[in-house]
Amino acid sequence: MTERVADGGNGPNQGHTVAILGAGPIGLDAALMARARGFRFRVYEQAPTPAGNVRSWGHVRLFSPWTMNVSGRMQEGLDEVGRPLEVDPEASPTGHELADRVLDPLWALPELREALRLDTRVVAVGRSGTLKDEEIGTPARAARPFRILLQGPDGDELVEYADIVLDCTGRWATPNTLGDGGIPAPGERGLQHRIHRRIPDLPAEMEAWAGRTVLVAGAGHSAQTAACALAEVADGNGRSPRVFWLFRDTDPSFLIEDDPLPLRRELALTAEKLARGEHPAVIPVPGRVVERLVEVEGGGVEVTLRDASAPRETLRVDGILALTGGVGDHGIYRQLQVHECYATCGPIKLSAALLGADSGGDCLAQGTHGAETLVNPEPGFYILGDKSYGRNSTFLLQIGWAQVDEVFSLF
Ligand SMILES: Cc1cc2nc3c(=O)[nH]c(=O)nc-3n(C[C@H](O)[C@H](O)[C@H](O)COP(=O)(O)OP(=O)(O)OC[C@H]3O[C@@H](n4cnc5c(N)ncnc54)[C@H](O)[C@@H]3O)c2cc1C
Repeated sequence: MTERVADGGNGPNQGHTVAILGAGPIGLDAALMARARGFRFRVYEQAPTPAGNVRSWGHVRLFSPWTMNVSGRMQEGLDEVGRPLEVDPEASPTGHELADRVLDPLWALPELREALRLDTRVVAVGRSGTLKDEEIGTPARAARPFRILLQGPDGDELVEYADIVLDCTGRWATPNTLGDGGIPAPGERGLQHRIHRRIPDLPAEMEAWAGRTVLVAGAGHSAQTAACALAEVADGNGRSPRVFWLFRDTDPSFLIEDDPLPLRRELALTAEKLARGEHPAVIPVPGRVVERLVEVEGGGVEVTLRDASAPRETLRVDGILALTGGVGDHGIYRQLQVHECYATCGPIKLSAALLGADSGGDCLAQGTHGAETLVNPEPGFYILGDKSYGRNSTFLLQIGWAQVDEVFSLF
């Protein structure tokens, strides 16, 4: 194992090294800010390309328009690299379009390219020479650099140091499990090859789904998108998937009153029809939870379902799409003094502000809650972006840009 200090950068804040964990849209915006403010910085991304998570759902169209998906810093950076964004501002890009037109060109900026470490997973962050339960709330703790354990492209492990750490690792890569109560159902852990935790790319993946019986589990936007996509596809022989759509609510409603985003409104209306059983390819299974999974001969899965009143029932399916949300990897900061909300798993101050705010269910109606809500007991460690929302699913990119402004206002 090697140990080294992150270097690079030559601005006025060069004395402080910022480690940015994750090269998603918010990690990128933070890197642009660190560059503008003259910090030395490094960005660690576990995927072989920037925006690994966005790329994994790149075929999905965002419901927010270009105007909401590109920060001011990004606009300026695109002008600087000679790739000004010429798009219909009210149109919505797919994830791939966002990455192709905005995210990838910006990583080509010399300082960002120099700072980016691809194929490099952040395993854990500690504080050099001290433990989680030591130096509680003392200035001595802040004086010790962060010690970051990384796993590089060849599986090699190394340690780098930083004064400020911004955890922007998102939550898409750490999905929730399927079983009742939020824990794996018996059999679930051994059946990962039958359980997909992503939105299928249709019709490109038609072969994998046509003529199959599929259980879609979940009721959020990802599950709605998957159920609607599966309902509409058929292969050259007219074969469609047969879909069981499982959700815990007995009568879910997805529509946001007076929704200003046409794509989100359209998705909600279509998904509600499916959830009411108004589409021949989709059989809704409301008010149930998954109790057990068993692989059966021939390769299918027998799924045992249950609700509070009905007797147990079983479904036999060829595959499962588990789209039950996700929560960030808190193992990364297990050795730091981070105070997590016991309900949402987000950082406590932000979680409390989010729980107290009433946006009427519409994520567009929310704002940020001030720099102070991003501050942890651990000095210099901040959780930004999608991960900062814990189990709350209303995070938007434009919230992330504001978080970057707020957190850098503290230095
Ligand atoms: C299908 C879908 C559609 C969405 N549509 C919209 C929309 O229309 N409008 C909107 O505003 N928001 C939308 N969101 C929500 C949110 O804005 C996105 O999830 C966005 O990608 C969050 O950006 P992020 O940078 O916080 O996290 P991510 O994009 O998840 O980036 C995190 C990065 O960290 C990397 N990483 C993870 N763990 C590690 C590790 N241990 N070490 C190193 N790197 C790591 C990942 O590979 C990834 O590149 C959508 C989300 C999804 C899933």
